[in-house]
Amino acid sequence: MLIGGHWHDDGPKFAVFNPATGDRVGDAFDGGAAETAAAISAASSAFPSWSGQTAFKRAEILHQAYRLMVERKEELAQLLTQEQGKPLRAARVETQYAADFLLWFAEQAKRVYGDILPSPRVDQRFMVLRQPVGVVGAITPWNYPISMLTRKLGPALAAGCTIVLKPAEATPLIAIATFRILQEAGVPDGVINLVTASDPAPVGKMYLEDKRVRKITFTGSTAVGKMLARGAGEHMKRISLELGGHAPFIVCKDADPIYAAKGAAAVKFLNTGQACISPNRMYVHRSALQPFLTELTNRVSRLTVGNGLDEKTGVGPLINNAAVDKVANQVRDAVDHGAELLCGGERSSNAELVNGSFYEPTILANVNPDMLIYTEETFGPVAAVIAYDDDDDVIAMANDTAYGLAAYVYTNSLSTAMRYFEALRFGIVGINDINPTAAAAPFGGIKDSGMGREGGREGIDEYLDTKLGGFSI
Ligand code: ADP
Repeated sequence: MLIGGHWHDDGPKFAVFNPATGDRVGDAFDGGAAETAAAISAASSAFPSWSGQTAFKRAEILHQAYRLMVERKEELAQLLTQEQGKPLRAARVETQYAADFLLWFAEQAKRVYGDILPSPRVDQRFMVLRQPVGVVGAITPWNYPISMLTRKLGPALAAGCTIVLKPAEATPLIAIATFRILQEAGVPDGVINLVTASDPAPVGKMYLEDKRVRKITFTGSTAVGKMLARGAGEHMKRISLELGGHAPFIVCKDADPIYAAKGAAAVKFLNTGQACISPNRMYVHRSALQPFLTELTNRVSRLTVGNGLDEKTGVGPLINNAAVDKVANQVRDAVDHGAELLCGGERSSNAELVNGSFYEPTILANVNPDMLIYTEETFGPVAAVIAYDDDDDVIAMANDTAYGLAAYVYTNSLSTAMRYFEALRFGIVGINDINPTAAAAPFGGIKDSGMGREGGREGIDEYLDTKLGGFSI
């Protein structure tokens, strides 16, 4: 834990395990309410001087952190793979993505503009200032455990906020490594504080109860997000939430089903399906169904499941055995309700992987709304395919979910693309595109998927208050 510029060096710890092997990767200090309160005090004391720095100074530090992160990409990626399980190739991509947020917000720091407005009175002038909200309480997840840190730290620091961050209990080590880099880059004591904890609840409670925390930023499950939003409402704290998803992936009759299946195989099994923008319902026009399923099955049955440290691995483990059980339960339920299992459908039988949390990449056809997988977020390596006949019906079906994060559409028609883009009620729509994300683009959802945007021009707005000055002259 890093509190007020000091690394904690005494007290109880909790162990961190490699999901591919079950081996212990390391330990983290086990913080609670007292450490969180101390971290909030440190952040609160550091706020006047950090917010009083020029944006150019803050940008310079973020640029330096970006350079250090890129320089240490390999080392960070190795740690990320051991702690979280994703294949090394993906860990390198995620680490670069994490660094990208530092660079993007280093640049955005210098673009926090105000406004001079016309007044209806000749003797009046209006000026609009944008000022940092103050101390931020952040909570991050384990599925993208380095990029979700910088997606919050980057804009908070650029805006002039100070921050306390609690990483997920499964992945504190990559957070420690990231905070060391920021400290080395020159972030002053108290500006960034890290509280690691095996029990997140007291940390979240302290963020809500301590009046000095003016903003909460959270990425995680919808249930916890709603609990935090209710608490934030009590004290009128700013809040931004990146929550669950249930993405539709629509293959239109005018799409190339082979190209769509290639995209489906790549995006569905990325991070072993543990992404909030992972497709959860694949709607395929009946005329494209057979070629799509054949190509998808060919590709998925060739995926190599294994330890992410092995460069040949395409799909790593799930985060833990509870995650495997949840996926197995959804698959069993779907098959019981009439789904057709085209491949996978069980834990990995490879003897070398018995101590890890592995589940075979799976394809289910004939999925229908009576199945859990149709409405519950899967967060695992299962492609659920549904045939459809009519454009209007599929748009209604795709939108018929409590979530609203990402959607994907495959079509070769510009007008179909535009129609779906406008009609789908999601924060992000990929058109023939399986990776509609970048540091420069606003990421976020609507409905039960949350509120606020991260990255893009919008990302820094979440950390700024707008102040109006009226001047009589
Ligand atoms: P998941 O099911 O993906 O693990 P969670 O919402 O449980 O999603 O976890 C996301 C983050 O939220 C993690 O950092 C976790 O420790 C934290 N978290 C979980 N429960 C609470 C809580 N009651 N208060 C604050 N943070 C929490």
